[in-house]
Amino acid sequence: MPTSEGSRAAGRPDAGGASARSLATRLLRVIFGCYFGVAVAVTAAQMVGEYRSAHRRLEADIQAMERTFGRGLAEAMWSFNTDVLHGILTGIAEMPAVVAVEVRDEHGAVVERVGTDAARQRSVTSLDQPFDRSFDLVYADESRRTHLVGRWTVRSNDGIAFDQVWDTFVVILINSALKTLTLWGIFFVVIRRMVGRPLDEIGAFVARLDAGSLGAEPLTLRSRGSHELDLLARAFNAMTAKLRGAFDANAALMRDLQDANATLQARVDERTRDLARLARTDQLTGLGNRRDLDEALDREAARAGEGRPLSVILGDIDHFKSINDRHGHAVGDAVLVAFADALRRSLREGDGLGRWGGEEFMVLCPNTGVAAARGVAEALRQRMEELDLPAVGTRTCSFGVAELDPGESVDRMLVRADAALYAAKRNGRNRVEAADAAAAWGRRNVA
Ligand code: GH3
Ligand code: MG
Ligand code: MG
Repeated sequence: MPTSEGSRAAGRPDAGGASARSLATRLLRVIFGCYFGVAVAVTAAQMVGEYRSAHRRLEADIQAMERTFGRGLAEAMWSFNTDVLHGILTGIAEMPAVVAVEVRDEHGAVVERVGTDAARQRSVTSLDQPFDRSFDLVYADESRRTHLVGRWTVRSNDGIAFDQVWDTFVVILINSALKTLTLWGIFFVVIRRMVGRPLDEIGAFVARLDAGSLGAEPLTLRSRGSHELDLLARAFNAMTAKLRGAFDANAALMRDLQDANATLQARVDERTRDLARLARTDQLTGLGNRRDLDEALDREAARAGEGRPLSVILGDIDHFKSINDRHGHAVGDAVLVAFADALRRSLREGDGLGRWGGEEFMVLCPNTGVAAARGVAEALRQRMEELDLPAVGTRTCSFGVAELDPGESVDRMLVRADAALYAAKRNGRNRVEAADAAAAWGRRNVA
């Protein structure tokens, strides 16, 4: 008999904490409950039939007695031979169907009686019903005349019929119980092996399944065959294999996606950096553009202060328009590029350079006062003057220099630098002019 202990040992999964009950036990309980009930009912019906036929046999036996002993009893009564009468009655009373037997004369007085109704003491009183059969005693003399000499009565009891059936009933009952138990045992072992255990194995397998261990070890039933449970186990294995395949494919897809995402992200980052650089680069010369210079100016102005001056140099190519006019725009571009490259090469460490617009360039000189910046501009002027340019030979540049005054805005400083440049142009070009301090600017404008 499987116990809940056995169920746990078999690894049967519990549903919602309730201990699972063996399907085999339940099946057998139903099958053999019905079987035993039917067996008992059939046996009981059989017993009723047996009991009735035993009763009929009792009746037939008593009828047969009338034919066997009637004549002898009538003769004994006629001759009033009580010894013979007693002898015959004793013989009749010995018979199994008889409880008692008595003879009465024609007036109804008891002549002889053997046996007693109280002889049977039975526990099943409802079946212990006495009954009797009476027969006339008729004597026929030599001249064939008949004389009624009395009546004799045989007393019997249904309990005798029951006794005859009872033993058979007990045998059939024990037989049914033994058959039921034996069949139950055989069926239990067989159903447990063929249904209960495979179901436990399938249940334990399904309970073990998760994404990690999916189908790591296929489900194999101990009782192999090609019955439905075995087909179910194979279907489970096919399902887990498919799921594992799908999981692997998904994982590979996810890896590819992550790789693609990382590549895309890197390209986007690179493109963003390129765009940011482009947004701050002048396309023709490759120098920083106006926006780049504006940001650098703000940055350096914020860092400038006591003991850390900031100066700017604005350079403008002299009579540049004539190059365009004489040699064409492309040559003008090439000249711009050549000037830009030369300026870049001549730059001091830490100085900044950008194209301010058109043919104007700006050099940012952090940590440099106006005097030093003027020196730097002068050196640049000389370099530019000596520069051998494509198609046009040599050209010159004019420069305006200004230093950021304490408390002065960048725009204000640029106005002063521009004015210095204008002054250089006005004073003959190919020269450097420096702006006065802002306080003096209002009076003298430029030096
Ligand atoms: P100044 O000595 O007074 O500076 O005379 P300039 O001719 O150099 O000055 P102006 O302002 O009269 O002319 C500047 C010219 O620069 C006008 C414009 O066509 C030209 N220019 C501006 N940007 C470019 C460019 O990117 N490429 C070319 N080829 N020409 C440009
Ligand atoms: Mg110019
Ligand atoms: Mg100009």
